[in-house]
Amino acid sequence: MTQAYDVIVIGGGLHGLSAALHLARRSARVLVVEKHWVGRHASGATAAGVRTLNRDRGELDLSLEALDMWHALESLVGDDCGFHANGQICVAENAGALSKLEARVNGLRADGYTHEEMIGPAELRRLLPELSHHCLGASYTRRDGAADPHRALRAFRSSAVDAGVTLVEHCGVNALKKTSQGWLVSADGGREWSAGAIVNAAGAWSGRVAAMAGDDIPLATKSSMMMVSERLRPFIKPVVAIMGRSLSFKQSDQGTLVIGGGLQGIPDLDRETSTARMQVLAKGARSATDLFPSVRDIRIVRVWAGLEAKTDDMLPVVGPSPNAPGVFHAFGFSGHGFELVPVVGATLADLILTGKTSRPIQALDARRLMPAFAKEKSS
Ligand SMILES: Cc1cc2nc3c(=O)[nH]c(=O)nc-3n(C[C@H](O)[C@H](O)[C@H](O)COP(=O)(O)OP(=O)(O)OC[C@H]3O[C@@H](n4cnc5c(N)ncnc54)[C@H](O)[C@@H]3O)c2cc1C
Repeated sequence: MTQAYDVIVIGGGLHGLSAALHLARRSARVLVVEKHWVGRHASGATAAGVRTLNRDRGELDLSLEALDMWHALESLVGDDCGFHANGQICVAENAGALSKLEARVNGLRADGYTHEEMIGPAELRRLLPELSHHCLGASYTRRDGAADPHRALRAFRSSAVDAGVTLVEHCGVNALKKTSQGWLVSADGGREWSAGAIVNAAGAWSGRVAAMAGDDIPLATKSSMMMVSERLRPFIKPVVAIMGRSLSFKQSDQGTLVIGGGLQGIPDLDRETSTARMQVLAKGARSATDLFPSVRDIRIVRVWAGLEAKTDDMLPVVGPSPNAPGVFHAFGFSGHGFELVPVVGATLADLILTGKTSRPIQALDARRLMPAFAKEKSS
């Protein structure tokens, strides 16, 4: 007999686990089906920055609620997941960059947002004593920070299982069929389950899962690269980015530098791999040493890349499928979905269990990306 669940979540990354956890805590019977193992893709490769700084307005309110949830994460998953709120800083190297940052912060202020502030050279040196003196100022979010992705994966996984979620790993979903009761899910090895609702949290492969339900949602693929140094003496606490250049620079609790920030490798969705591009990594290393000359002669011990779906407007898709009742999407986080993990799961639980949410997800509707709906809108 086909086993029945209330909800089947496709994808055992952090978003799939968070949705499953929130649903199970609200008494739903939930199955998570993961093709490989929990954290195999983006959630195991992430830099784990918890950033509201420079967020697009379309996801800003959701991101601010997520930040509050990070500050109280222990109450959700029994662990703070290594989250330290040491702030995030976006540095300006020239007058043009500085005025762009000022315009953004002023615009936010005009709309009542106070989470970003401008800081001048003196405060910048206090926060980042080894920063190069050519930097003029920065925007700063004090309550942002970074976490430990592996602790987050462990905590979300064990909390979900403790809440009653069934987890099946090493089993890819390959078909979805609409039935009178809901959905029939077929997976590797001829396994089948049924459920009233489906969550598509399949990361870089979410477009393929959406197509199984009848949604044509064009997506690109990001292959963000990271590099990690040998352990160094502690010298920096906030996460640092540069206005106009690809860089995210931080020091882990272990002393290693974790350097990334949108440096792109070469993705291959069919082989589920990405290839590191040394020239691009070299650009990232250059940006890092321009900002912090003291790290010019350190050893890089490892580089890697992770695959993730990217949308045209860099905003995720969160919400019900336009074509397939009972299917809910959560993907396309375009390189900044880690911070959103606690809140997107709660949003999906609202939508699935009550049919609505008060959380602001209007800008994340799948239809904005779908050719069929774009045509309708323009005719
Ligand atoms: C290098 C890197 C650095 C990043 N840094 C940051 C950061 O600093 N801050 C931030 O906010 N975000 C960051 N991100 C983004 C963030 O990590 C992701 O947005 C987030 O982890 C996405 O989680 P997910 O659960 O949606 O996807 P994933 O973790 O990729 O999970 C999707 C899962 O679905 C499974 N799957 C796919 N197809 C099927 C199928 N047919 N059947 C069953 N399972 C399937 C996959 O195996 C995978 O495990 C970074 C990402 C990368 C790659």
